[in-house]
Amino acid sequence: MSGRANHFVLFGAISACAAALLCLSTTVGNTADPESTGSVTASNFPLASDVRLAGDDKQTRFIVDLDQKFPLRAFALADPYRVVVDLPQINFRLPIGSGATGRGLIKAFRYGLVMPGGSRIVLDLTGPAKIEKAYVLDAANGQPPRMVIELEAVDRTTFVQSLGAESRPELRPAVGVVEASAAPNVAAPRAIEAAKPDARPVVVIDPGHGGVDNGTQAGGNGIAEKNLVLDFAVALRDRIEKAGKYRVVMTRTDDTFIALADRVKIARAQSASLFVSIHADALPRSEGDAEGATIYTLSDKASDAEAERLAEAENKADAIGGVNLTEEPTDVADILIDLAQRETRTFSNRFARQLMGEMKGTARMHKHPLKSAGFKVLKAPDVPSVLLELGYVSNKGDLKQLVSESWRTKTVGSVAKAIDSFLAKRLVSASAPN
Ligand SMILES: [Zn+2]
Repeated sequence: MSGRANHFVLFGAISACAAALLCLSTTVGNTADPESTGSVTASNFPLASDVRLAGDDKQTRFIVDLDQKFPLRAFALADPYRVVVDLPQINFRLPIGSGATGRGLIKAFRYGLVMPGGSRIVLDLTGPAKIEKAYVLDAANGQPPRMVIELEAVDRTTFVQSLGAESRPELRPAVGVVEASAAPNVAAPRAIEAAKPDARPVVVIDPGHGGVDNGTQAGGNGIAEKNLVLDFAVALRDRIEKAGKYRVVMTRTDDTFIALADRVKIARAQSASLFVSIHADALPRSEGDAEGATIYTLSDKASDAEAERLAEAENKADAIGGVNLTEEPTDVADILIDLAQRETRTFSNRFARQLMGEMKGTARMHKHPLKSAGFKVLKAPDVPSVLLELGYVSNKGDLKQLVSESWRTKTVGSVAKAIDSFLAKRLVSASAPN
């Protein structure tokens, strides 16, 4: 488990969500259920069938076997040191376990879809390195076409100087692929798609993580948080839609990476009445055991150390996806201190209490089920937002429930009920004379 230790150091925080994700990051594309990931496994995309690492801690080569050539774009990022390789959408069929460990300059790597039409490989580096070459070779001498990334160790100063415009955070497919979806706000088309002339209040359901970001991972059995929470979110959507009172917009319905800010944007663009982010937590073994569901709201100051740890872990999603959004304008963060936020917070807290009231009848709850911290995904200043951690994948009892159909049905029912009582009350107070 040395990889695990490395990953803790990498992100500085003993954040179970991020750490578990990194040390067991290899199952993207391996365990993904083809039924639920749909286009991800479509056969018309280029296929990546094998991966090899060669070299030492001075020079390292990363080689992927392909079935065809395509353009790629590779760039390095600092803090933590990593190399991001943007590709057209790839059908990853790499051997199970690929990426869990590295060699030479590469500590570990992960891969997956970051948007329709675009896949990404993120190489976690052991230290500063420059991309000497990045190219795709033709098939030759009985070998298939191969993608090769050549890395060379450099000192930090050289590394920082080499970070050019290429390293600027951008989320777009590799050159020349799917021009239509290359717009900066990748999430918008989905949101618009779902928008019909419809006066019903909108509930945004946000399954956490996705694509290259697995979220937490349960033990060795490869159940990724991103899949657990997507299943839950889809069931919740179906339940609410069946009742017909509210319109549901999902931030993702497949195994795609969505940046945190884009999730917030969807809620705001839809003028949502409520935003519910769905997650599952994990504690590193060294931190003991914890169980039960927890409901988080936004606050400037974390309610306790565990809430702080979790917010830090969840807020790492963008870095895990390979993008560093710290240079993004922080308009939402500024508005956070605005008085306008207060009302939204009152409503968020009210919903959190209602949700706890409904859930405690059907689900195991954490011993302190209501907490708050600085979650980026809860920062829509005008949309009441909560983040629901369904339980701990690191806890046997919780995990058993999280994968159980009957538990999901019951719990989805209680969440839907809480949403209904929250929105029904808001509708009444909105239409009542002042
Ligand atoms: Zn999560």
